[in-house]
Amino acid sequence: MPFSSLALSSKIQSRLKKIGFKKPTPIQEKVIPLILTKSDVMAMAQTGSGKSASYILPILELLSRNSYEGKAKIKALVLTPTRELTLQVAEAFNSFGTELDKKLKVVSVIGGEGIGEQLYAIQQGCDILVATSGRLLDVVSKKQMNLSHIKFFVLDEADKMLNLGFAEELELILEELPKKRQNLLFSATYPPKILAIASKITNEPVEVRVENEEPTVESVTQRAIEVNRENRGPLLRHLLESEKLEHVLVFMANKRATDNIAEKFKKYGLSAESFHGDLTQEERNFTLDAFKAKKINILFATDIAARGLDIENISCVVNFDLPRSPTDYIHRIGRTARAGRTGIAISFIAHEDREHFAVIQKKCHVNIRLEQIEGYEIKGDAPIRERGAAPVKGKGKSKKDKAREKALQSK
Ligand code: AMP
Repeated sequence: MPFSSLALSSKIQSRLKKIGFKKPTPIQEKVIPLILTKSDVMAMAQTGSGKSASYILPILELLSRNSYEGKAKIKALVLTPTRELTLQVAEAFNSFGTELDKKLKVVSVIGGEGIGEQLYAIQQGCDILVATSGRLLDVVSKKQMNLSHIKFFVLDEADKMLNLGFAEELELILEELPKKRQNLLFSATYPPKILAIASKITNEPVEVRVENEEPTVESVTQRAIEVNRENRGPLLRHLLESEKLEHVLVFMANKRATDNIAEKFKKYGLSAESFHGDLTQEERNFTLDAFKAKKINILFATDIAARGLDIENISCVVNFDLPRSPTDYIHRIGRTARAGRTGIAISFIAHEDREHFAVIQKKCHVNIRLEQIEGYEIKGDAPIRERGAAPVKGKGKSKKDKAREKALQSK
């Protein structure tokens, strides 16, 4: 199906052609017509599926069909879980809307940057507001923003917003919205909490699900290399050289470790940086832009920081530390091989990771052969776990999950 068979204006079609979008992705084929015919939508969609454009294009289309006089009022509100996704979505609205007769004003509202400037930008007139929920609440509570003209309310990557307190934040935001509006919900998974949110905000939504919707993961070559923990850094340097790996995203479990290893790699003359939630927004933007522009070859990142990032051309993802859950594993390896490309995902497996990796493989229905690399062979035996030792990651509930459940029960 070509884009021309969707009821999008010639200005949008022409822009799509210019940026090289040849045909809609499966999710776009289904979701765009639904939004254009004013349905509420509840879509199951992964990052990399083209989900953002599936709501951005029809929203632009519908908003541009009406001409509004005077200072722009907020007509579309998009909530996302991270600052990065917020900026990407705002940029995509601007990019797809470039050729429209009346330019729609897009403002992003994110933590870590001056609230005053963001408020000022809104007050100057704003058609489309893209925000992280926490920061939006700060702005809403200042009572200097009018959300009563909202026609579209979008939750993007809803399952990533289930942090403690999100349900209350959402409640407060919903109070500011008009009852009659179009609600669009996008989530990779639909756990009970998301279903509860969905039933609260949507009105007879059309459920959309694209079968076999994991091309990103299927086209990733998954490898697992056994190595002792202390040898992971040297092994990574070896692989970078021997396999000529370029544009590599390396996932690690904690922030300090990403800083330390990036420094170490730089000392070896490699182009590396760290990327985590403790960096200022400016630092994060700077690093991300440099990585996107391929000025940085290796990015050491934590899951939180890397969630939802839209980086093209990552050829290799390395699980220096394994992710906590199988879902995170899929999410991480889905960073590579996007938009039809192929990619590699390499997981480092130390003795203590074997059991957890077996759980991940089982849940993800994959069976990955364990390799060893000459000169970096794994030595010794698995440390014996003492009674009462920490449970295998991913098998039990984490402290955080338990705290969340407790908080919810006590409501
Ligand atoms: P998303 O799933 O929204 O994060 O999109 C993943 C990537 O695919 C983004 O870089 C989009 O720009 C790109 N993309 C989305 N739709 C299309 C399309 N129809 N053709 C080509 N690339 C697309």
